[in-house]
Formats: sequence, C-alpha cells, structure tokens
Amino acid sequence: MSPKTKKFLITSETHEQTLVRFSKDLAATGYCDRCSSTVNIVSLDNGARGMKVGTRELLALIDSDVVHGFENEDGILVLCGQSLALRLSG
Ligand SMILES: [Zn+2]
Repeated sequence: MSPKTKKFLITSETHEQTLVRFSKDLAATGYCDRCSSTVNIVSLDNGARGMKVGTRELLALIDSDVVHGFENEDGILVLCGQSLALRLSG
C-alpha cells in the first residue's frame, strides 16, 4: 500500500458551499480568477478521477469554463476545486 494514496473527499458544508478536500499534507490552494478567491486546487489527474471523465474531456470542460483551470506557480495546469465541487454537486 502506497503511503501516497490520495484521498478525494467531498464534504457538503452548507447549501452554497461545497469543498473538495484532500488529506492534510496534500492540501493546496491557489487563486482562481473566475471565482475571484482563493480556492482548493486539484490536479488534473484527481479531477478527472473525481469527475469520472478522461483528461481530454476534462480539458474540454475547462475550455468551456464549466470547470476553472489555471496554472499554479510552477506553471502546471490545476483545477479550481470550487468549480469542480459545483459541477459534481449540480
Ligand atoms: Zn474557480
């Protein structure tokens, strides 16, 4: 069993807010322009897995602004956890 096993846990906190959380050591946040706020960020891999779509389809969702995607400080494309949660709950 890998110690790096990632947990993808979706917790509904209120009607309006759904947070996508990872285990503590993997928690990361970034600024999402579309949400105009700091959000949890999710890797493409985890986003695709969580939404049960392929990476290609996920990129199309980012393209059509259904899911917010932006580059982190390392220039890696990441997903806005907030938009992902909205998509998953809606
Ligand atoms: Zn966003």
